[in-house]
Amino acid sequence: MKNKIKVLMLAAEITPLAKVGGLGDVIGALPKALKALDTDIRLCLPFYGSIDTKKHKTKKITDFEVALNGQTETASLWQTFLPDTKIPVYLVKNKYFDGSEIYLDLGAMKDGLYLNVVGDLERFTFFSCAALEAVKKVKFSPDIVHANDWHVGIVPHLLKTPANQKFFKNTKTVYTIHNLTNQGITHKKNLKYLNWEAPTIKADFKNNDINLMVQGILGADIVTTVSQTYAQEILTPKFGAGLQRILKTKEKNLFGVLNGIDTDFFNPETDGYLAQKYSWKNLDKKIINKLSLQKKLGLPQNENIPVIGFVSRFVWQKGVDLIIDKYSRLNCQFIFLGTGEKKYEDQLKNLAKKFPRQFSVQIKFDEGLAHDIYAGSDMFLVPSRFEPCGLTQMIAMRYGAVPIVRLTGGLADTVNNDVGFTFKTFNSSSLYKTLKKALEIYQNKPQFKQLQINGMRSDFSWNKSAKEYLDLYKKLIKKC
Ligand code: ADP
Repeated sequence: MKNKIKVLMLAAEITPLAKVGGLGDVIGALPKALKALDTDIRLCLPFYGSIDTKKHKTKKITDFEVALNGQTETASLWQTFLPDTKIPVYLVKNKYFDGSEIYLDLGAMKDGLYLNVVGDLERFTFFSCAALEAVKKVKFSPDIVHANDWHVGIVPHLLKTPANQKFFKNTKTVYTIHNLTNQGITHKKNLKYLNWEAPTIKADFKNNDINLMVQGILGADIVTTVSQTYAQEILTPKFGAGLQRILKTKEKNLFGVLNGIDTDFFNPETDGYLAQKYSWKNLDKKIINKLSLQKKLGLPQNENIPVIGFVSRFVWQKGVDLIIDKYSRLNCQFIFLGTGEKKYEDQLKNLAKKFPRQFSVQIKFDEGLAHDIYAGSDMFLVPSRFEPCGLTQMIAMRYGAVPIVRLTGGLADTVNNDVGFTFKTFNSSSLYKTLKKALEIYQNKPQFKQLQINGMRSDFSWNKSAKEYLDLYKKLIKKC
């Protein structure tokens, strides 16, 4: 135990305790792979009201106080374990998180940036302060704090404050950007917990705004993002979301590490959600899932009509707006599952209303239905404007649904012509042409089956990427 590298992983989501999207999946899976590499990894999460306390057997450890820029707030510290592992998950309970929501607002986008509500910035800066206090309480002094996304972007700075610097004297920081367009920006008057005189914070002021993503980037020893292509893209004005210059200053310590997926959770051979389990060796059984899905969603049951799935947040980033009436001319069925901005939800609902035999639109978050769609689809759409990594294309491939993706970010790093269909230009006619081609190839059964099998046999596990993170941790520790 003594020589193990101690890692504290911080994020706003951990699947299956609290999930909105890919961030949760990553933080629910990467720690398992790091544990397998013999690290002493522990996690800390807000104790959201929606966490199933019985299922996760949460136990109270203690009450504690969080000192915040001259004020004090009480919280209580609880613990559970990441399911089926010995990885501790510390839970910070406080009135901020008693509601069932993970984010108070999912965030519409304006000028290419997600708009975050002030309440979320306050909740997560409180959580950042409290998480560090919590690990002091359990005497876990990490070698590495690995903070993810803007919610905990202030953590590298907090580690250096007088109240923390002794306990975290030897702690190094890795900050991972999961989505650069979600930055956590607000006017400084809204964040009462921070000391505005600190140097990194001062460096960030623009019109008295603070940007928590910038805090993470400036404060961390190493910055990573979730694919090699996105790591390159974010240094350019097109993808840098206004932070390309700041990122350039960190270029030597900026790395792309590709996300994996939880190959136990997403496994067609064992998946309890499915009408029929299957593998690449008995792929013909997949058809049972397709027929069951068509029936469940009220689409005509026909094994010869290709089914195209789409599971996503319905937001600007994801390119939902490319799917227009013209697509009803294609001989296929589309199934959409997601929630997001009303205008995109309405656009899709409209298609389903006009073309009910071809479009099924499900506006909800439903893990089971998502698995049914991966298993029941022949193809899977990911036409994103930008995509830091993207997990759904990998999950789809694991279930033998051939991905049709736009070549950007992690989509470009995970999909090629051996496993799927790709297009470069972000517009409706490029996607339409690609779909037409995909539907032609679908008719050539052996060729299409080969694509499915190639995808199903690809390695999307975390093994390789966890080693890359471990190497980065080691590099930092050596510097101590
Ligand atoms: P994001 O940008 O949202 O993080 P990713 O592709 O990285 O996108 O990850 C999305 C994850 O969230 C996948 O596991 C996907 O299956 C899941 N997901 C997204 N929307 C829904 C939904 N409405 N119901 C169930 N799962 C969903």
